Amino acid sequence: MDNNQLIPTVNCSRLKFLEKPTCTSLFILKVYLLPTIFKGIKKDIEKLCEAVPQLVNVFKIKDKIGEGTFSSVYLATAQLQVGHEEKIALKHLIPTSHPVRIAAELQCLTVAGGQDNVMGVKYCFRKNDHVVIAMPYLEHESFLDILNSLSFQEVREYMFNLFIALKRIHQFGIVHRDVKPSNFLYNRRLKKYALVDFGLAQGTHDTKIELLKFVQSEAQQEDCSQSKYHGVTGQKGSLSRPAPKNLDQQCAAKTSVKRSYASAQIHIKQGKDAKEGSVGLSVQRSVFGERNFNIHSSISHESPAEKLIKQSKTVDIISRKPATKKTAMSTKAVASVTMSTKAVASAMRKTTSPCPAVLTCDCYGTDKVCSICLSRRQQVAPRAGTPGFRAPEVLTKCPNQTTAIDMWSAGVILLSLLSGRYPFYKASDDLTALAQIMTIRGSRETIQAAKAFGKSVLCSKEVPAQDLRKLCERLRGLDPTTPKLAVDPPGCASLENTDHKASSLGQTPPAQHSEGSLCKGDSDDCGSRPRECTTNLEGWDSVPDEAYDLLDKLLDLNPASRITAEAALLHPFFKDMSS
Ligand code: ADP
Ligand code: MG
Repeated sequence: MDNNQLIPTVNCSRLKFLEKPTCTSLFILKVYLLPTIFKGIKKDIEKLCEAVPQLVNVFKIKDKIGEGTFSSVYLATAQLQVGHEEKIALKHLIPTSHPVRIAAELQCLTVAGGQDNVMGVKYCFRKNDHVVIAMPYLEHESFLDILNSLSFQEVREYMFNLFIALKRIHQFGIVHRDVKPSNFLYNRRLKKYALVDFGLAQGTHDTKIELLKFVQSEAQQEDCSQSKYHGVTGQKGSLSRPAPKNLDQQCAAKTSVKRSYASAQIHIKQGKDAKEGSVGLSVQRSVFGERNFNIHSSISHESPAEKLIKQSKTVDIISRKPATKKTAMSTKAVASVTMSTKAVASAMRKTTSPCPAVLTCDCYGTDKVCSICLSRRQQVAPRAGTPGFRAPEVLTKCPNQTTAIDMWSAGVILLSLLSGRYPFYKASDDLTALAQIMTIRGSRETIQAAKAFGKSVLCSKEVPAQDLRKLCERLRGLDPTTPKLAVDPPGCASLENTDHKASSLGQTPPAQHSEGSLCKGDSDDCGSRPRECTTNLEGWDSVPDEAYDLLDKLLDLNPASRITAEAALLHPFFKDMSS
């Protein structure tokens, strides 16, 4: 291996955490932190090259540019055409990712990606259980860094391009499920955009992404088959969740979640009888809808079969047959890529038990949860994603979720752009997240919308809906009557404090994971206030009503009437813009 390839370049964005460096902090940075950071990156690159040695033949891996719970992303260069060096992003998926999950992510990129602001894929490498997706590299800004320096026109362009991407994936029946700034790359100078990260994507009932059909059907199957608690664990964005191997902590987290649910002042019930149910301590995790940690046992020991899958060979990826059945089941990543869809379905099938009979109880409509309801199994609905971006129907575990959930997340992004606050909502659990939504959209409105999708939400105190323009102008400091620092959005990291939540909504549930934070592993979700505080006033003194009208339609509590990506592109907010 050429050692030169392993020397990382300086990534300036990583150095921004010391905003006003003092002599001491610079000394600490230089003497202690930089060598440690570089050593760590160098080691990670070495490990990657050992795990997938064929990468070395093609790429010079320069730096690590992203590390999340589910993947590490590296910047590499490659001479794919003679005389032309290209920048490539290499996404190394955690080896415990489920094969069907990996294959589905890859299929989203290959089938829907490569145009309309959706990231494409160039190659995919595998060795044993290590999978690396090679994508065109798009240099991008940190959302937090630029939030308050964006002109109003740039905000319009950002949202317009996000809707172009969402329209594209929704046409393919892909629900992204994790729309947030760190998954929508933005190069401000080049005005380039790319939606990335289909690691949590699910399919609509008529999805054109074959493998997503299996991802979705499993989620539905689990709804009826699982008697153990799956609901609150494994939230992607709630990065308080433990590392894959730390199963003891997972169990502990589940237990604490149960307790706090029992004392919550907001209750969600489905139909007449369904309640939050009992908490089992099984370490079994859902693969589908939430990323899987639980397949250590399936790590292959077979001899390596290295593959290079070209972007244009989508059909091959789906239809290629496994060499043997054993290969298909034991070799995680490539097996799934090569497995026929039928084989995938049978691989995923589980023995199911029938749904339990409905028992009636007398706690409906009260703020108590009776023992009958406490003993019910947990309802399972897809709930992956980042809590602050989750739609009300996700937070209330509505089983019928559609592409509308991505539109809600886009609305939360627009809310950040218009208010200048990011993250806007920051909650470590679903009930807190729902309470925070109520403080903006109103408790009565939320309860009413929940009713429309079959959920009964009880709230101990009524809070009115806020006027979106007034709210955003106050937060942005454009309202001359309110000093900018006097107002903070609910749960905004800068003022995240349970007292605030309690006073807003009576007694809302306390934050359950004290260690929970959206920040871990998702760097641009960190921090509370934009680092650049100088608001670029260009266009901000006369934000048209259309902006708030679109925001209102995106943050429609009812998914059935929420605006679609296609309709959003035609909204007057984007008049005079064309794709
Ligand atoms: P994860 O599933 O771990 O969140 P992502 O696909 O979202 O992985 O990638 C993590 C980060 O890596 C992104 O937020 C982005 O900063 C960077 N990244 C991912 N893909 C690319 C790309 N094609 N070009 C440039 N940076 C990328
Ligand atoms: Mg991501």
